[in-house]
Amino acid sequence: MERKIREYALEIGFDEVGFTTADPFPQLISALEERKEGYSWISERLLQLAHVADPHFVLPSAKSIVVLLYDYYKQAYPEELLGRIGKAYQSRLYPGKKRLFGSRLRLIREFLEEKGMEVGIRPAMPERQAAVRAGVGRFGCNTFVYAPGRGSYIGIVAMAVSAELDPTSADAESGCPDDCRRCIEACPTGALYAPFKMDPLRCIAFNTYGAGNFPGAPEDIPNDIREKMGSWIYGCDLCQDACPKNQKRLNQELLPDVYLEEAAPGFAPEVLLGMDDRYFREKVQQLLYGYIWEKKFIQRNAAIALGNRGDDAYIGLIADALKDPEDIVRRYSAWALGRIGGLKSRKVLDVALKREDLPAVKEEIKEALGKS
Ligand code: SF4
Ligand code: SF4
Repeated sequence: MERKIREYALEIGFDEVGFTTADPFPQLISALEERKEGYSWISERLLQLAHVADPHFVLPSAKSIVVLLYDYYKQAYPEELLGRIGKAYQSRLYPGKKRLFGSRLRLIREFLEEKGMEVGIRPAMPERQAAVRAGVGRFGCNTFVYAPGRGSYIGIVAMAVSAELDPTSADAESGCPDDCRRCIEACPTGALYAPFKMDPLRCIAFNTYGAGNFPGAPEDIPNDIREKMGSWIYGCDLCQDACPKNQKRLNQELLPDVYLEEAAPGFAPEVLLGMDDRYFREKVQQLLYGYIWEKKFIQRNAAIALGNRGDDAYIGLIADALKDPEDIVRRYSAWALGRIGGLKSRKVLDVALKREDLPAVKEEIKEALGKS
């Protein structure tokens, strides 16, 4: 059975397959206990720590876990999207009806069910821990899982199943060199504050997600993090890109991803900030689904990216966004103008302050005026 599952998974496009028992993951419980504060955003149901770490919460009859890896770095990403949208999010796994990842998941699930197994995957499986226990990867200090020969640009699926399957052996390559701290040094916000310890509330990637679209994601991004977000609009790859274990993959010669090359100009922050509902629906949502479902959060992040770019050529465009019906877009546009600064920004902010009714937006405009 293990051989059949492996063959089928590879045939439909997964890159590695492992198996482990459905035993709970006690290390995950202690790690979460230790850092409860940083994870208080996890929904109450999941916060019952034993649940997060026990596959039987997802499937009471679970006996094994099938772990599937997919490598999302097989084609070159467009230069203009790097540093703007995390590789995992711009991967070709995501475009609309051609959503290969979703199709693969459905296919493998159907395959396992046809073989008489019950399958559980929602609301959450400890995917990274399962991959490590199945021996298909090892944790790096940046908390990402590294697969031998592939590095950390991998997606992981873990499915609890009711069948008894032979676990694969833990033969993944060794972990991090003792003296390496490159990922920690590369993290601009201090989110990665010690080996294997990451505070999601300070992580750029987490902060780019939409409030209400992803559990615990904030509506408001702290001021100091906004500045450190640089050009990121969705996700952040810095602690993976800095890692010596990923350099071989980063320097590989790959064919361009034609789909993304064509789409890339449409994801410039100046385009995203001013987009209408139709553009969002037809162009953006198709690709960037996942943790941001609402246009206003992409606009919020685009405003931050434009502010951080500091180019006054975009002041006119940001001035238009100061009239957006969504107050969050107006607030972050005000912040962007404060960040760009200068007389031109001040004039736009002065006009906006006179026009604005909402106290929270007025407050942000005043703060921006104080900075500009
Ligand atoms: S994803 Fe970015 S912000 Fe988050 S831990 Fe890594 S480097 Fe830091
Ligand atoms: S940068 Fe160094 S410490 Fe961080 S994950 Fe890579 S090898 Fe490990």
